[in-house]
Amino acid sequence: MNALTQDRVLDAAVVGGGIFGSTLAWQLLKSDQDVVLFEAAARLGGTLGSSHSDGFVWERGANGFLDNVPFTRDLAIDVGLESRLLPAAPAARHRFLLRRGRLVELPEGPAAFLRSPLLSLAGRLRVITEGLRRYRSPEGEESVASFARRHLGSEATEVLIDAMVTGIFGGDAERLSVEAAFPRLVALEREHGSLIRGMIRRRRAARAQGATAGGPGGPGGRLSSFPLGTQELVDALASRLGDRVALESRLTDARRVGEEWQLRFATGETIRAHRLALCIPPHLAAEVLQSDHEVSALLREIPAASIVVVGLGFERDHVRHALTGFGYLRPRREPGRLLGCLFPSVCFPPHAPEGQVSLRAMIGGVRDPEALELSDAEIQRTTLDELRPLLGLRGEPRVVKLQRWPRGIPQYEVGHLGRLARLEEKLNDRPGLALGGNGYRGIGLNDCVREAGSLAESWTGSTHEA
Ligand SMILES: Cc1cc2nc3c(=O)[nH]c(=O)nc-3n(C[C@H](O)[C@H](O)[C@H](O)COP(=O)(O)OP(=O)(O)OC[C@H]3O[C@@H](n4cnc5c(N)ncnc54)[C@H](O)[C@@H]3O)c2cc1C
Repeated sequence: MNALTQDRVLDAAVVGGGIFGSTLAWQLLKSDQDVVLFEAAARLGGTLGSSHSDGFVWERGANGFLDNVPFTRDLAIDVGLESRLLPAAPAARHRFLLRRGRLVELPEGPAAFLRSPLLSLAGRLRVITEGLRRYRSPEGEESVASFARRHLGSEATEVLIDAMVTGIFGGDAERLSVEAAFPRLVALEREHGSLIRGMIRRRRAARAQGATAGGPGGPGGRLSSFPLGTQELVDALASRLGDRVALESRLTDARRVGEEWQLRFATGETIRAHRLALCIPPHLAAEVLQSDHEVSALLREIPAASIVVVGLGFERDHVRHALTGFGYLRPRREPGRLLGCLFPSVCFPPHAPEGQVSLRAMIGGVRDPEALELSDAEIQRTTLDELRPLLGLRGEPRVVKLQRWPRGIPQYEVGHLGRLARLEEKLNDRPGLALGGNGYRGIGLNDCVREAGSLAESWTGSTHEA
């Protein structure tokens, strides 16, 4: 525990040193708040960060962030990383789906889409004619699959939308709330009455500004990272926060005592703070708020999916596939167990040594929770058995890196927004308490950085640059 915290009441205690908590603590510190960031682990970053071995950069969680919104990029610049920003190579624009046992590129425009073998002709026409109709959301929260079926038909939902939901949430389109998980899609419907019309108009507007707005080939913007991976952002934040960070400080209990929040840590130490931000996964926030039955019951209702990331390093000439792209995803109707596999060293060439490539497969997700229970050897065998025929792999990988994330990706299931509204109501009666992190209003790095900035702003009343 940091000696800083003894014998005084902090302005703010931030608990959880993932990207959300680290960004929040940094913004509060810049506003001259007396803040300490408490993190259970021996390092900051949470699911974010990289390790380095055998000349490879291995990402633990996120591959990077998109630059179509400014939040993470601005934060990186703010902590001194402008010259270190590394946009993905142009090849990363190409994305693949597994269809009938082979990798098919996602088309980038309407003409390519009409020629693509991804969907049947009827399925393609159903998608293309979406722009001729006008849609309005039903009352209440709707699932991603129901929303997508209304707009794009069943086949596109089972192939394209299922893969998108897998890639981002490791989730189930039938269960996720479209408004909570993909608010931009609902905004397109509200503003333009159709996804296709909305995308065309946004593309035109983005082109006029020299940017990209995304489309069927993938989300807008370029993926960005750093030469040594996302760990550079974690390290830069850690160095800015300096002795304001207390590592190996696991919060076990938080309760309001008088006008203050009293925090108890696993070490037995206690501290007091006027404000408390719990930037930890909802099920863990439920544990530390156990004395507050109403709030912790609501937090326990937010589910999360477990996922395993399998990094493989191969000699380039042991991989027959051209690997000209970001990677591929597997829609649920295709046989197999992997959710997909990315080609990180194609996106970021400095992340692999000369003459070698890195692959990053994912297994698990909400529909395959048992994957987390498999042994390392079983995961490795499953991964290689599936990738060998698809990518033409020869021999054994030079390096294998497994990273398990139990309950690592929160699932914004139908009912999520109602639950957030009820939580907000309860928080109104608990002054100084805030819930942050990827469990509530967006799981992307940009979402976390944006929400952390808004929270800092609401606590300090000032506008921040990042
Ligand atoms: C496999 C994977 C791939 C991803 N890919 C991308 C991507 O490519 N692009 C993208 O934008 N996003 C991606 N994401 C999502 C994004 O990385 C996460 O949503 C984001 O990093 C979560 O940050 P966070 O601060 O909310 O939570 P976390 O990173 O989970 O941090 C929470 C922190 O709280 C600490 N903690 C927990 N309990 C306590 C306690 N009681 N006391 C003190 N500390 C505690 C934990 O140790 C942890 O450090 C990915 C996520 C995963 C898992």
